[in-house]
Amino acid sequence: MSKQLLMDRFGRMHDYLRISVTDRCNLRCVYCMPEEGMEFEPDEKLLTFDEIADVVRVLAGLGVRKLRLTGGEPLVRKNLEQLVAMLSAIPGIEDIALTTNGIYFASRAEKLRAAGLTRVNISLDSLRADRFALITRGGDITRVLASIEEAYRVGITPIKLNVVLMKGINDDEIADFLQMTIDRPIQVRFIEYMPIGHADENWKSRYLPLSAVLDCCQERGWQAEASEAVYGNGPAQNYRIAGAKGAFGLIHPISDHFCETCNRLRLTADGNIKPCLYWSDEFNVRKYIGDDEAVENLFFRALDIKPQNHEMAQALLNEAQSHTPTLRRMSQIGG
Ligand code: SAM
Ligand code: SF4
Repeated sequence: MSKQLLMDRFGRMHDYLRISVTDRCNLRCVYCMPEEGMEFEPDEKLLTFDEIADVVRVLAGLGVRKLRLTGGEPLVRKNLEQLVAMLSAIPGIEDIALTTNGIYFASRAEKLRAAGLTRVNISLDSLRADRFALITRGGDITRVLASIEEAYRVGITPIKLNVVLMKGINDDEIADFLQMTIDRPIQVRFIEYMPIGHADENWKSRYLPLSAVLDCCQERGWQAEASEAVYGNGPAQNYRIAGAKGAFGLIHPISDHFCETCNRLRLTADGNIKPCLYWSDEFNVRKYIGDDEAVENLFFRALDIKPQNHEMAQALLNEAQSHTPTLRRMSQIGG
């Protein structure tokens, strides 16, 4: 008898799992983590590679086809290549992507590709070395740029760059990132700054709706054509500037949410299923690992309470919300 698939009560099919492999990071991006005071999970609290692979094997039987490894910084977890190899050997898994800050990627790209990594997103919020260091609180941009080149060299393409736009911080670089898509076969994904774990006044003053990107195209006389081409699983609305080698995408969860097409579930490094990035609901799967039916049931329970949408826009307007937002920071969830 064929198994039930991961469909929720709003008819959304879930075939995509984002796996956070660690809550630790070698950077401290201003929008993601406080500079000091973060408490990290002790190693014994993290799911082991065997446990992660076991959960994925069960989910592959329920229709999950695409995975993304994230964090924290996934490359601070030792031997990530081994996990990629374990996951790529699971029947049904077709796509294993990585989201990384790019600091350690260049030296690992070849091995990750050999292990079965299919795609990479590299986060880069500024093309200026000094500003990059300020946003990441100490990151060296030359390492990230080297990682982008290495991804090309080993053939993990198309490469996506994640750019979180913040008013008064990096919005004057929108045109530079767009120019990059004209010159190179790269996918730049502009992301709205989200209030995950910190819907405070600072967030509100830095939040920028992504209409700013289309306004920039108009000011420059660049024809941005909506493009159907979707590389991967993203919720991005995709565009290409006429004649450009690359493309850009807009991920605007606040100004125009895309919850009706949500196909993703999240697994935190400490083994919690998160049906929605924004809300606090979590289900710890660890104690059920080894009992496939119990793991399946827990995922179905998580799907059962998955809300129709998040309410980040209400946070911006100080409006009442229907559930409790998560207290976790983005680094503890994985984006
Ligand atoms: N360390 C990796 C990295 O930075 O790519 C992976 C984890 S990070 C949490 C995943 C993505 O979330 C990154 O692209 C990052 O820019 C984005 N992110 C973090 N905090 C965010 C926020 N408050 N709003 C929007 N995006 C955020
Ligand atoms: Fe680390 Fe990524 Fe968060 Fe930056 S965005 S602090 S690199 S987890």
